[in-house]
Formats: sequence, structure tokens, C-alpha cells
Amino acid sequence: MSLAPLTRSLSPTAWDADGEHHRVAVIGGGISGLTCAFDLQRQGVDVAVLEAGDRPGGVIGSERDGDYLIETGPNSVLFKPEFRGLVEDLDLEGDLIRTPMRDQPRHIYKQGIGLQEVPTSLRAFLRTPLLSRGGKLRLLVDPFLFGVPRREITVADFARRHVGREMFEMFIAPFISGVYAGNPETMSLQGALPRMAALVKRGRGSLTRGAIAKMRADRRERRRTGQPRVPSSLCSFDTGLGRLPEALAEALGDSFQPGAEVKSIVLDRGRWRISVDMRDSGAVEMTSDALILATPASTARALIADALPGAAEPLAQIPYIPITVAHLGVPSASMTREARGFGFLVPRGHGLRILGSLYTGAVFEGRAPEGHTLLTVFTGGATDTEAINLSDEELLAVIEHDLRIAQGWNGKRAYERITRYEHALPAYRMGHVERIARLEREARAAAAPIAFAGNYLHGISVVDCIAQAHRVAGEITAALPTRE
Ligand SMILES: Cc1cc2nc3c(=O)[nH]c(=O)nc-3n(C[C@H](O)[C@H](O)[C@H](O)COP(=O)(O)OP(=O)(O)OC[C@H]3O[C@@H](n4cnc5c(N)ncnc54)[C@H](O)[C@@H]3O)c2cc1C
Repeated sequence: MSLAPLTRSLSPTAWDADGEHHRVAVIGGGISGLTCAFDLQRQGVDVAVLEAGDRPGGVIGSERDGDYLIETGPNSVLFKPEFRGLVEDLDLEGDLIRTPMRDQPRHIYKQGIGLQEVPTSLRAFLRTPLLSRGGKLRLLVDPFLFGVPRREITVADFARRHVGREMFEMFIAPFISGVYAGNPETMSLQGALPRMAALVKRGRGSLTRGAIAKMRADRRERRRTGQPRVPSSLCSFDTGLGRLPEALAEALGDSFQPGAEVKSIVLDRGRWRISVDMRDSGAVEMTSDALILATPASTARALIADALPGAAEPLAQIPYIPITVAHLGVPSASMTREARGFGFLVPRGHGLRILGSLYTGAVFEGRAPEGHTLLTVFTGGATDTEAINLSDEELLAVIEHDLRIAQGWNGKRAYERITRYEHALPAYRMGHVERIARLEREARAAAAPIAFAGNYLHGISVVDCIAQAHRVAGEITAALPTRE
């Protein structure tokens, strides 16, 4: 990939001299910022992405390390329309790899009985030893529940009410740890799981009735449009997920500028004045008609504090959660239990400290050499914030202990790599919905167009970020002042 320096678009003279297009500055070249910029560019809007790091993608990062393909951030993405759309627009279909979800069973660890497959049929559910008979019968309560919560509630309160304590502890809480690294006791249902909240509303207080109504509506819609049911699948690319941001940066060409750290932003006579520290050429000042802040919330807050203090306040209330990711290349024969499927999660209170592990080498081909597999083990999260402080030796000892119990691993490894994220993922805490509504109100009321994009707003997955970026690009295009 070649990324020519952005001297043409970013030199203050060229920037001001070129009055032909509306001009937007996007700060942050993760998937959110890149998608915003790509949309804008396709609509003929002159856009520049300023990225502090030396490559596109933010937390998405794929590296070939000897015989292993390492994803330092996300490992896979759900094949949803937003993702498919980008893949098609970037002509990446040939590089895409997909695997149906049904071929990738998930597992849960239960103390005393070890790893068990998550049931995906009624028959399997009735037979699973993950729940007691009482825990299974408790699900029968939900269809008789009425009353939609008027106020924001925690994921834990929601789950205990609708599916019972056991199901919450065995399934919901580990899922929240696995996806959000979050704590369900403090996490907002409406903020983090808005689709779940919408189902309860649809079912007038019952999750079961809401889910059945949604299934029926989806079926009617498929019949009406003649669209077949598309089974869910997981996807990545031959060279890893990093291919997506790379392709976006390639499409943006000179408009993507790595090594450009934004230091401050000032609102000056209806325009944004941006001070940038360019790695190669030092301090640069530039202006833009509109601004998209696609950095983590803490950076957005620091940058906007003077220009838009009303927006800085909600941003300051979004904490980030630490997580440690360990990649282990292990001989397949080193485990008595085969690492087959998507991976496993560990509920708290079951004697293991790790949050779980992805069977990365089993999900997609080409991630590990012959006779070996690659495990991606997660530790820490909101329920174990101290884990980030473990030394490599301490962390590996925890992992070795836990994998010996869960996988029958003898500790032999051919590869190891540890990545620590002090600020891995935003916490969708109680008050999230109002916080984000306020942030967006403040942005709409600003004296020049500004919008926020990123994983702390309306969902943390790569697909959520893409969807949010499309919305933001549309809003900014509509808000751009017309130019003579
Ligand atoms: C370990 C891990 C595993 C994950 N696994 C999955 C998964 O399997 N599937 C999934 O869908 N999602 C997963 N996610 C979530 C998903 O990857 C992220 O939410 C998403 O990639 C965030 O993208 P973003 O563009 O919003 O933010 P980021 O990727 O954080 O991008 C922000 C960018 O802003 C730049 N920046 C910051 N400050 C400045 C500045 N002052 N000037 C210029 N640039 C600046 C940064 O360098 C960065 O490139 C995972 C996340 C993590 C951390």
C-alpha cells in the first residue's frame, strides 16, 4: 500500500485556495473516521483524514508474524449489510473469507463440568448441563411479564427479570464480558443493547413475545420482497481484518494523512481552525468548513473542551475499560480438548480468571502453521481492572493455569504475544442514552457543522461503527454551508 503524503490537500494555502468543494476534516483514521471520509469523498466532498498513528485502522490491526496472522484488535466481523456494502464498494469480495455461524459453536466453561457447547436448539437447551432444571424452567416466566421499563435499566436487572439469575450468570454476563469487556451491573440496557430493549417494547413487556413478533414480521417481509433468509456468518479477509481500513485509505489516496496528530481545535468565524503536529513537517494550521471527530471519547473531549464546552461534559463521563489480549500459537496436540468452533467464555465465580478465548486458528484458515492452532485469550475487562497490571510472566501463569483446566493444555507453545489496551473499549454506563443525546444536541447547535463518530456512541462493533459513520457522513453533507 502506498500512502502519498498529503501536502496538496493539507498545505494551508492549498486548503484555503481551493474553493471548489465543501471541505471536511475528519480527525481519527480508525474504521469510523475512514468510513465517514469515504462516504464524503464519494459524494464529491473534499475531505481530509488526520490520523495520529502511522497506519489506518485504529484498533483494527492485522500483522503477519512468521507463520502466524495476528489480529491485535477485532478478529472477525458479522456479515451484515453495512459491512457487505463497504466490501462491495471497495471491490474486496475476492479477499473476503466467510464462515457460517452455525459451523462455529460457542462454548461456556462451568466449574466441575468444563467446557460445554452453547445450545442452539430447543432439544440441546433442554439437555445442556449449563443450567439446572430450575434455571431452564425460569424462562417460562417471561411470556407472562407485562410492563415496559420507563427508565433506563442495567443489563443485569433486565436479564434477571426476563431470564432469571442462573441464565444471567451463565450466559448473559459472560457475553457482556466477551463482547464489551463490560460489567452488566453498571451497563445501560438501552445504551448497550438497544435492540434487546426494542424487543421488550415490541412484546409489551416480554422478551419472548417481542422476539416472536419480530421473527414473524421478518418472515412476512422476506415473503413480500422474495428475499431468502441469509444465515449469519463471520468474516474477515485473507490477510486479516486490517485489509478493510487499508483499502479505505487506498481509496482516499492523498486525503488520508497518517502521522498527523491534531493538537487543538478553535471555532473561528464559522470555520474550524485545526492545529496539527505533522510527524514529517512539524506544526501546521488549517481550516475546514465542517469537522468530524472520530477519535476515542477522551481525545474528542480534550480537543473540543474550549470550542464546545457543552459537548465536552458528556464526553468526560464515558470511561474506558482495560483489557489484555494474549495470542498463543500452540501445537494442536498440546491440548486434550480440541479447540474447535468460535471459542469459549468464562462466567465469573467459576474458578478461572481469564474472560475467555477465541479459537482463532480454527475459525479462519491461514492463521497458524500446520499442526498448530492460534488462541486469542482475553483477560481483564470491567470486572477485573487490575489484570492489566500483571507482568507478562504473571499473566502467562494465569492463562496457563486456566487453559490447563479448560482445554487440557500442557503449556507447550510455539508463539506468544501480549497486547495491553489500557483504554480498550468504552463503558456504556447508566445514563448513556441521555449523555449521547446531549452530546448530539450540542453538536447540532454549534456555530459550524460538527459531528462525532466512534464506538462510544451507538454500539462498539465494527459494523456498528460503520453504520454510525454512514449516518454522520449524511448529516455533515446536509449541514455543509453552500459556497459561491
Ligand atoms: C481487543 C479488541 C477486540 C475487538 N474485537 C472485535 C470483534 O471481534 N468484532 C467487532 O466487530 N469489534 C471488535 N472490537 C471493537 C471494534 O474493533 C472497535 O470498536 C472499532 O474498531 C473502533 O473504531 P473507531 O474508528 O471508532 O476507533 P479507533 O479504532 O480507536 O480509531 C480512532 C483513531 O483516532 C486516532 N486519533 C486519536 N487521537 C488523535 C488525534 N489527536 N489526532 C489524530 N488522530 C487521533 C487514533 O490513532 C485511532 O486511529 C474490538 C475492540 C478491541 C479493542
